[in-house]
Amino acid sequence: MSADLAELYRDLHRHPELSFAETRTAAVAAGRLRAAGYEVTEGVGGTGVVGVLRNGTGPVALLRADMDALPVAEDTGLDYASTARGTARDGEDTAVAHACGHDMHVTCLAGAAAELASTPDTWTGTLLVVFQPAEEIGGGAHAMLDDGLLDRFGVPDVVLGQHVAPLPAGVLAVASGAAFAGSDTVRVTLHGSGGHGSRPETTVDPVLLAAATVLRLHTVVSREVAATETAVLGVGMLRAGTKENIVPESAELGLTVRSYTPAVRERVLGAVRRIVRGEAAAAGAPRDPEVRVVETFPPVVNDAAAVERTRAALATATPLPVVDPGPVTGSEDVGAFATAAGAPCVYWLLGGGDPAVFAGASTVDEIRDRVADLPSNHSPRFAPVIEPTLSTGVAALVAAAREWLRP
Ligand SMILES: [Zn+2]
Ligand SMILES: [Zn+2]
Repeated sequence: MSADLAELYRDLHRHPELSFAETRTAAVAAGRLRAAGYEVTEGVGGTGVVGVLRNGTGPVALLRADMDALPVAEDTGLDYASTARGTARDGEDTAVAHACGHDMHVTCLAGAAAELASTPDTWTGTLLVVFQPAEEIGGGAHAMLDDGLLDRFGVPDVVLGQHVAPLPAGVLAVASGAAFAGSDTVRVTLHGSGGHGSRPETTVDPVLLAAATVLRLHTVVSREVAATETAVLGVGMLRAGTKENIVPESAELGLTVRSYTPAVRERVLGAVRRIVRGEAAAAGAPRDPEVRVVETFPPVVNDAAAVERTRAALATATPLPVVDPGPVTGSEDVGAFATAAGAPCVYWLLGGGDPAVFAGASTVDEIRDRVADLPSNHSPRFAPVIEPTLSTGVAALVAAAREWLRP
C-alpha cells in the first residue's frame, strides 16, 4: 500500500499540470476512486473529480485535495524532479512543477479514500471525495460549486482537508478561527509619456513612477495597519520598458495583499488605490492609473468546535503532538465549499520538512529556527520528503473522516 502510494506520488510529481489543465492528474485520481468502488464523476468545474461512497445512514463528509501545479522551474535535485512544461496564463511557455505540494494532497486523498472504502465497518454515512482544480489561481473551488457540486452530489456536514507545509515531516498543525489569510491579487497600470532617453524633459517616466510607487506601497503595512493586526503587501511583479534609451509609455505592477479581516482588507486596498493615484499625480502622469483586483480568496475560517473535535482525531494519526501553527499568511479556496454548504471547515497543515533538518532541535524556538531554513511553498527548491509525510497525511484524513462519520 505505502510503496504503491509513494510510486503514485513520484509519478504525479514528475507530471505536474497547471491550473485547469490537470487532465492527467484528474484521470489518475478518478481511476483510483473507481478501483476503490466509488461512484465517480469527472469534468466537474473543468477538470474536477468527485467520488461518492455511500455506507449506510449518517452525515456527509467532504474530503478535498487540490491538484494543480505552478509555473516554476523545479530545482530540488530529486531524481523524480519535474522537467514538464506548460502554457502559462499569459500564453507563454513555462516550466511547471509541484512547488506547492498538491501532488502530496492528491496522493494522500487517494490513499485515504481507498483505506476508508476497504474498512466500511469503521464509519457510517457518505464520503464525498473532491479532487479540485485550479487552487493556485483561486478559481477551482468556485468552478466546482458553479457546476452544481452540492446539488449533484450532496451537501456536506463538514469540509476536511490539509496542506503540506515546511514543518517537521509527520507533524500535524491546526489553528482555530481565521487559519489562512484572505488574499487579493492586484494589477496596476501606470501611464507615462514615452520618448528618447536622452531627452527626459519631453517625457513622463513611468519607470521612475513605478519605483516611487513601490517604495510608498511598502509604507502601508508599517504605517496604516495597527500593530495588533496583520497584513502583507508585496510587489511581486514590475514590468516596464524594452530598451535602455527609450522612456516607455507605461509600467505594470502586480501586488499580493494578505489580510484576515474585512476591515484590514478595505484599509489596505484603499491605501493602494490612494497611493497609486497620488504618485501618478505627483509624476504628472497624462492619464489616471488603473487599479484592478484580479483575484480574491476569502480567509479560511476553521470552526472552533469542529477543530476541537478533529484535533483529537488527528492526534491518533501521528506519534507527534498536534500543534497550533497560528494564522498562516498563505491563502486557500477550500473555505468556499464550507461557506456554500453552511458547514464547518477544518483545514490543517501537514509537515513535510526533512527530519534531518530538525535533528537535535528540541525546543519550540529551535524547531522554529530550523523551519526558517527550509524552502517555503512555491520555492523552486520546495519538496516534502515522501515519508513520513505521506503515511501521516493518509492517516490524518482517515482519522478525521472516521471521527465525523462515527457509527
Ligand atoms: Zn500554492
Ligand atoms: Zn497550495
